[in-house]
Amino acid sequence: MTVEPLFQRVALIGIGLIGSSIAHNIRRHGLAGHVAVSTRRAETLARAQELKLGDSYHLDPHDAVRDADLVILSVPVGASGAVAEAIAPALKAGTIVSDVGSTKGSVIAQMQPHMPEHVHFVPAHPIAGTENSGPDAGFVELFQNRWTILTPVEGSDPEAVARLQRFWEGCGAMVEVMTAEHHDLVLAIVSHVPHLIAYNIVGTAADLETVTQSEVIKFSASGFRDFTRIAASDPTMWRDVFLNNRDAVLEMLARFSEDLASLQRAIRWGDGDALFDLFTRTRAIRRGIVEAGQDTAKPNFGRELGSAEGKN
Ligand code: NAP
Repeated sequence: MTVEPLFQRVALIGIGLIGSSIAHNIRRHGLAGHVAVSTRRAETLARAQELKLGDSYHLDPHDAVRDADLVILSVPVGASGAVAEAIAPALKAGTIVSDVGSTKGSVIAQMQPHMPEHVHFVPAHPIAGTENSGPDAGFVELFQNRWTILTPVEGSDPEAVARLQRFWEGCGAMVEVMTAEHHDLVLAIVSHVPHLIAYNIVGTAADLETVTQSEVIKFSASGFRDFTRIAASDPTMWRDVFLNNRDAVLEMLARFSEDLASLQRAIRWGDGDALFDLFTRTRAIRRGIVEAGQDTAKPNFGRELGSAEGKN
């Protein structure tokens, strides 16, 4: 028995790690009748075609979105406004337009003004990723048992939200719906600030004069190594994340700095109880993450090369 696909034609605008992982899922799970792929550069489009990520390939995004009933932008968040403006005239009535950007408030501010009345705009963010980029980086399991957050805008059609939810569930994801503002605060603390800390600590180590570069690499298994994985994340994507979630990141960074200062004081005054209490509480959080199936208890976090990470 053949089951009708959820969408007739899906247009994927941007075909890097996230766009190509969506493409793999559409194919594997039969979520669309036709996948139209569009990306900015001819080289990337040619590579997507070699990898057989879609059914048709378009340098002009108009050609990709025309007749699509679902359009997903998977481009750096700072580019989402310009891409929305470019595709808007070619969107047909009833199309669901979504994205995968790691920040939501600024993506909505950039995209919504360009959305014609006759489309359903439902922003989204899959909380799954790796530090790799480009169409070769995608894989079908990326969204499996990871959360995707939908942040409908005022007036979003509930049926469009429900259809997009079914699409992401079809990709293996669990779906939660929240406001863009709440999303941005939550992601600032669980993702954006941790990335900033990783970028900062790796930068500090690289600048040290009394510890050599070779020692940093040689002894990295002592903890530094895990930060370097995060600090290897795509520079364009993360520049855009910090510029586009400025207020929430600054709010969480202020709290972080206060807590860091109190840890500094505990070390200075030899307050072992304060340190022990915090480390006990944080260990329980780690156990909670493992119990929730969001990571494994293996010493290397179960991360063989190319495996799915809990990044975003
Ligand atoms: P990626 O692998 O670097 O792919 C980026 C895609 O966007 C490519 O198709 C690229 O096209 C296109 N692009 C780059 N700059 C552009 C511009 N200025 N205008 C139009 N298109 C442009 O990126 P990704 O990791 O898939 O990330 C895409 C989105 O997903 C971002 O918004 C990010 O915040 C979000 N996200 C990322 C992760 C993660 O862990 N990586 C997780 C969740 C969500 P060309 O190659 O043709 O230039």
